[in-house]
Amino acid sequence: MKTISEVIGLGPKIEMTEEEWKKRLTTEQFRVLRMKGTEMPFSGELLYNKEKGVYQCAACGNPLFRSDHKFDSGTGWPSFTEAIEGSVELLPDYSHGMKRVEVRCSRCGGHLGHVFDDGPSPSRKRFCINCAALSFEKK
Ligand code: FE
Repeated sequence: MKTISEVIGLGPKIEMTEEEWKKRLTTEQFRVLRMKGTEMPFSGELLYNKEKGVYQCAACGNPLFRSDHKFDSGTGWPSFTEAIEGSVELLPDYSHGMKRVEVRCSRCGGHLGHVFDDGPSPSRKRFCINCAALSFEKK
């Protein structure tokens, strides 16, 4: 099956029904991206990826993070010090009795993970992202 961006090209926002997303995504991708799920730590392959390239939204292909900004946080999820400008939206998230900042794909609205203020200098940001929400393109 073609990716979404192959079908409609990179560009404006994507809106699809949850039924359409369900057909497009794997069960785990749907659970994370559309139902704000969190994968088990240390369960995703891209956690260990050290190749140079760009991490894209697994749902829509939007370029989100560069490998240069990936670091080993020890948490079990891929961690980045910054996102590609304009690629993500940050929203307050008060679920599960915590005050967190949710990270979403700005193009398709897919849930990616959360961002915390305990990352390395100089940005001090730690974008904590589910592997299930990412695809990788080697550059
Ligand atoms: Fe997306």
